Amino acid sequence: MDFSLTQEQERIRQWVRTFAQSRVAPLAAGIDERDELPRHLLAEMGELGLLGLPIPEAWGGVGADFLSYILAVEELSYASAAVGLVVAVHTAVGSFPILYFGTPVQQQRYLPRLASGTWLAAFALSEPEAGSDAAALRTRAQRSGAGYVLNGSKVFVTNGSFADLFCVFAVTDARRGSRGISAFLVERGTPGLQLGPSLRKMGMNGSGTCALVLEDVYVPEEQRLGEEGEGFPIAMRLLDGGRVGIAAQALGIARAAFDAAHAYTRTRKQFGQEIFQFQGVQFMLADMATQIEAARWLVYRAALLRQAGKPCTREAAMAKLFASDTAMRVTTDAVQLLGGYGYAKDYPVERYMRDAKVTQIYEGTNQIQRIVISRHLTR
Ligand SMILES: Cc1cc2nc3c(=O)[nH]c(=O)nc-3n(C[C@H](O)[C@H](O)[C@H](O)COP(=O)(O)OP(=O)(O)OC[C@H]3O[C@@H](n4cnc5c(N)ncnc54)[C@H](O)[C@@H]3O)c2cc1C
Repeated sequence: MDFSLTQEQERIRQWVRTFAQSRVAPLAAGIDERDELPRHLLAEMGELGLLGLPIPEAWGGVGADFLSYILAVEELSYASAAVGLVVAVHTAVGSFPILYFGTPVQQQRYLPRLASGTWLAAFALSEPEAGSDAAALRTRAQRSGAGYVLNGSKVFVTNGSFADLFCVFAVTDARRGSRGISAFLVERGTPGLQLGPSLRKMGMNGSGTCALVLEDVYVPEEQRLGEEGEGFPIAMRLLDGGRVGIAAQALGIARAAFDAAHAYTRTRKQFGQEIFQFQGVQFMLADMATQIEAARWLVYRAALLRQAGKPCTREAAMAKLFASDTAMRVTTDAVQLLGGYGYAKDYPVERYMRDAKVTQIYEGTNQIQRIVISRHLTR
């Protein structure tokens, strides 16, 4: 097995790393504190192609492969987890639906705008009563003339506060359960679509999480994504790639926490020596480094399978589960290694710990990942 990156993947990683360290990292604490993503940063990322990295050049994207995109999410998340999240949602569950399931007219209208970052996309599946049990949606799409009328509400919509396009899932045939759900492309400003205020959260501040209320929102049939009743399988297929992206976010956060903690132990002196010299500290760092390395290969392997068009539901779930648990452990240990300073806002590790937590929750909680993995266990 060859685990090395291609020259092109390495080039993209270096390019994104340089950008993330010079342009994103200096803004990260402010994004977290103000819960606001500077529009100029999004514009800059759009101009550079970071909002359309794996979108084909024909649609205005960079045409990079899926692993390169995953490396980019990891590097952005190392600098600012919120920025990594915004890009991951915009790409994997915001733009890919149209790339894979859109009609030529939908692709023509939306992909160039999304790939250039002129428009941002969001994914609205979760509802107040439908979280882990996503098929229990209550939002209804009632046939009306040459389209549908949507009524219902959505929660936890990442990018929602600033998105221009929402992929909304709604029930078109309540008798058919998960086979009665359809997906719709709803543009910001469509009459009846109301955005709630930005949700106040523990972490991932700046990612514009909000609720949506849909009140008699008319959507023409041409805005349906895929066939009627195909919404749930579309969502599940998107989540395979999406989960690898969450795993990459977690990996980036864990690496950032490790590097901060490692550097600190080399400068902080207690009992007359660097705290790194204590074996108790070294063992913690050794465990953190080992977990990160294991997570890295699960993430890259799932990405390579996804890129090769091979089934990767199990591997994506494993990568998401392990990388997010690793991020939580490593960031918690990083806070511990900085002692009281780890708990203070003057250092970034408390932010890493807050940001890491949600990677165990969204795009399927880690209990749900375990259910997915156990369904794939063979005797
Ligand atoms: C910051 C943030 C951003 C998000 N972004 C988006 C987004 O962009 N789009 C979107 O659609 N959603 C988004 N979500 C929603 C997210 O995917 C859900 O929160 C998640 O799927 C869990 O659903 P829930 O919160 O309703 O929890 P619940 O489903 O109510 O779960 C509560 C607890 O019960 C456990 N549980 C539930 N069922 C089982 C079971 N069968 N076996 C064992 N344990 C179980 C869960 O693991 C969890 O611990 C986001 C959430 C957050 C916090």
